[in-house]
Amino acid sequence: MPILGLLPAALSAFFILRWLKKNLDLGLSNLSLLIQARNELFQTIENRLKYIQDHNQALANSIETESAIYEVSKELSKSTDEESILNAFKEKISGIFNTPECFFSDDQLIKNNIDYSLFKFSAKEQKTRYLAIKDSGKIDRAKMAVLLIQLELSLKRARLFAEIQEISITDGLTGLYARGYFLERLKQELIRSKHNNYPLSFLLIDVDNFKTYNDTYGHITGDAILKEIAKILKYSLRQIDMCARYGGEELCILLPETDKGGSFLVAQRLCLSVEEARIRVYNENIRCTISIGVSVYPDDAQALSGLIDKADKALYQAKAQGRNRVCSN
Ligand code: GH3
Ligand code: MG
Ligand code: MG
Repeated sequence: MPILGLLPAALSAFFILRWLKKNLDLGLSNLSLLIQARNELFQTIENRLKYIQDHNQALANSIETESAIYEVSKELSKSTDEESILNAFKEKISGIFNTPECFFSDDQLIKNNIDYSLFKFSAKEQKTRYLAIKDSGKIDRAKMAVLLIQLELSLKRARLFAEIQEISITDGLTGLYARGYFLERLKQELIRSKHNNYPLSFLLIDVDNFKTYNDTYGHITGDAILKEIAKILKYSLRQIDMCARYGGEELCILLPETDKGGSFLVAQRLCLSVEEARIRVYNENIRCTISIGVSVYPDDAQALSGLIDKADKALYQAKAQGRNRVCSN
């Protein structure tokens, strides 16, 4: 009887325990789900962080490359000749990559030297050149490739600049200096002569009866004759002398550090060279003569305009006296 009396209490204890266990199991299972969700969240955050770090690194690399390109371009744009561009590039990349030793080379011979790495780029007339760098391990090759493109562009710009300069100082037909450039140089030379107390001679040359050649052989042959005369004059002069096309069939010459006696001899020699030449143009052997007027600083004039005026008057005299001769005042 007392045992039977305990039965309800035991039963209710049993059900309570069963309920408790069931709820505990549920709680544990929820907790494990919660932990799993938390771990997944952590993993996601970690992945995101890594992505951002990688992205930041790529961004930093790209900014670094951009600023290096900017620095190099800025430096290279200051120069207009190839030599200075190459030197500026070498100096700049030594700083960017902290390279101990680098130099430019035209051939690959340096390839045999394992201490150096070669970076190829195209230079003058598309010729391949190499930048040889010692201990190149720390060099980011992708960045170097971009910088070498900047170098190539700058070299191209320098070549175009030189070509344009050449065009503006050269006469298209004769290949002699153009009048404007010649007069500028004559002005400078006059200042130098005054400063150093040197004489200077100016020769004004005119082809004799040139109209007759045009009329006889045609204008194209006339052009070719003019070209040949220019060649004869150019190759009869010293390196420091300057020969230009003054205009039409008139040419002019600057003889630095040359007095009246000296310039007279040169002018007579030029007359003789042209007279003796057989100018072969389009199957014709043509003979030509020239007349020359000479003026000298300081004997004839002190200023540029005076020198030109005196040479012009002397040339007029040479024509009046029968052509193929030299005159001075
Ligand atoms: P002079 O001995 O007095 O100098 O006689 P000239 O015939 O040379 O002189 P003129 O001034 O009467 O004629 C010069 C000629 O030169 C006229 C012009 O057509 C020609 N000429 C000027 N420039 C050129 C050129 O670039 N090419 C050609 N073919 N002829 C030119
Ligand atoms: Mg003339
Ligand atoms: Mg003439």
